[in-house]
Amino acid sequence: MQLLRGTKDILPDEIILWQYIEKTAAKIMKLANYHEIRTPIIESTSLFKRSIGNGTDIVNKEMYTFIDQNSREITLRPEGTASIARAFINNKLYKNHTTQRLWYLGPMFRYERPQQGRQRQFHQLGVECIGSLNPIADAEVIRIAHKLLNELECPDYTMEINSIGQLEERKKYKQSFVEYLEPYINDLDNNSRNKLYTNPLKILDSKNTKTQEIICNAPCLYDYLEAPSKKHFEKVCEYLEFLNIPYNINTQLVRGLDYYNYTAFEIKTNSLGTQDTICGGGRYDSLIQELGGPHMPSVGWAIGMERLLITIKNQLNKKIENNKPLVYLAVDSQNTEKEILNIIQLLEKKDISYNLDLDNNSLQKQLKKADKQGAKACLILRDYETKNNCITLKKLSTSEQQQFNIIHINDLIKTLKNMN
Ligand code: ATP
Ligand code: MG
Repeated sequence: MQLLRGTKDILPDEIILWQYIEKTAAKIMKLANYHEIRTPIIESTSLFKRSIGNGTDIVNKEMYTFIDQNSREITLRPEGTASIARAFINNKLYKNHTTQRLWYLGPMFRYERPQQGRQRQFHQLGVECIGSLNPIADAEVIRIAHKLLNELECPDYTMEINSIGQLEERKKYKQSFVEYLEPYINDLDNNSRNKLYTNPLKILDSKNTKTQEIICNAPCLYDYLEAPSKKHFEKVCEYLEFLNIPYNINTQLVRGLDYYNYTAFEIKTNSLGTQDTICGGGRYDSLIQELGGPHMPSVGWAIGMERLLITIKNQLNKKIENNKPLVYLAVDSQNTEKEILNIIQLLEKKDISYNLDLDNNSLQKQLKKADKQGAKACLILRDYETKNNCITLKKLSTSEQQQFNIIHINDLIKTLKNMN
């Protein structure tokens, strides 16, 4: 049986890194009053059509959608924000009228061409700050992303930021932009040509050199923004400067999803090649209202866990101590099972990690295995120990051996604890 294309098993060696990221994120979130939320992986297809938007690649090409036994149209979530907006409304999280700060981590699904940093099942870690129009909220979520990446020692990343204004402003801009592009229609790359009348703003994102050359002289979205949009953007930039968070303004930055307004940002790293964006986010002031909830201006981001991991794997591996068992239990006798079970319970009680050899190998082989697995000590139980009511401790770094009478087992535990 083969693994499905674009999916990956995450094996124990790598899980240690995931757990480290999760722990670091949870700590930062807790300090900033962000609370974890877990929503279902399946949702009604209409949720994503209405929120992400019909002209987008996600809705048009990338969703895993199926009909269930009761003829409902169901989609595996391609991102987190829409589900959180739905959960926010369904559970009336707006009822105490304060800003809600939420974070999540979980698998997302998009039918894309798998390559380095691009999978069909991938994971996003994200935050949503719901209920504030204050530009400090934008700065807050950006600061949290920045703090997390710094704490994880993510190398060489830069943040790009832009304001994409309000729907009306974008409408006017789209019109001028399309008019500008029409004479060049045959020179655009295929993908951009297809987007000219469906989702023209995404053409700004094109990586094609010819298309980029054409765009160079196109009208600029920023010039179509009115005072409130500009003021919000200036404030966000001012706070970022105050916080010493470096950023570049990229007037061509737009986001793939329809529901964004005002602030849009992306964090990129130089160590990833083409799939270089590790974090994407922005403000979405009308989404919750559009889905049937109250007016709740919001801002958030999502980090792609797999891309983040590619960039920080080496540093993390050096930093994180493997969860190696401290004690290896080597048994060379037929009659010691019950004693071993007793010792295991005792070790557990004292938080000492252990690995019991189950292979019935010779003691010599067991000691070698203990060493190979990085255990610090070996507890040896042979007929000799049973006869003498004792247990032998062998320190693997020095090969020094010591015997402890079962009556003085606490001395053994103390010695083990000191080795930790
Ligand atoms: P891209 O331009 O790379 O397709 P996107 O704009 O579709 O990204 P978002 O929807 O903003 O991505 O998702 C936020 C983050 O999630 C991305 O910056 C990326 O790190 C990660 N991500 C998105 N799609 C995938 C995928 N198919 N595989 C792995 N990570 C992904
Ligand atoms: Mg994409």
